[in-house]
Amino acid sequence: MKALLDRARSFRRRVDFESDEYRKLAVGQFPEALFITCSDSRVIPALITGARPGEIFELRNAGNIVPPHDAYGAASGEAATIEYALEVLGVQDIVVCGHSHCGAMGALKYRADLSGLPRVDAWLDYARPALAPVLSDGGGADGPATGVSAVSDDPALREVVQLNIRNQLAVLREYPVARQQLDAGRLRLHGWYYEIDTGTIHELDEDGGFEVHGS
Ligand code: ZN
Repeated sequence: MKALLDRARSFRRRVDFESDEYRKLAVGQFPEALFITCSDSRVIPALITGARPGEIFELRNAGNIVPPHDAYGAASGEAATIEYALEVLGVQDIVVCGHSHCGAMGALKYRADLSGLPRVDAWLDYARPALAPVLSDGGGADGPATGVSAVSDDPALREVVQLNIRNQLAVLREYPVARQQLDAGRLRLHGWYYEIDTGTIHELDEDGGFEVHGS
């Protein structure tokens, strides 16, 4: 933590806050996209996209899950963030980005014992039912998972992560505020699968497959 703290304390000296770019930030934020991704520390949206401060509005949680808009009444951090992004910030693009080696998806895929992590277990219930067709049958020992936080790059896990991306986009489409913007042609949804060890982005195509574009 010391290195992080030292860098935080020197941040204001390492950045030119008198520059036009930073002075504009005091006027307001005008992000181009809402980026929904996993809390995983290896996924850094600004690094991947080259975004500058003010360009990306982020929503992060374990497994890049979008709970149903009415999942837990009025108090939903996810619903509030999505509503704010669309209604106040006027964001016209939403990216749901899953990633390789995902501990949350690995826990589902390999049916990890989550008895010691009841909150994680309950949270993953938002993603679990729709993934049932691609989850393992065994009791946690049939896959390469070595724990909830360390999962190898199993091709079968990729299938789960990519299906989860499609599923979360489907939930997002059911948000009244998103539905309204989609119907009006003012909102585009994007699915990305990010490989943390190669930096490759696989983009969801209209046919439901994931493709690598560009070089
Ligand atoms: Zn993850």
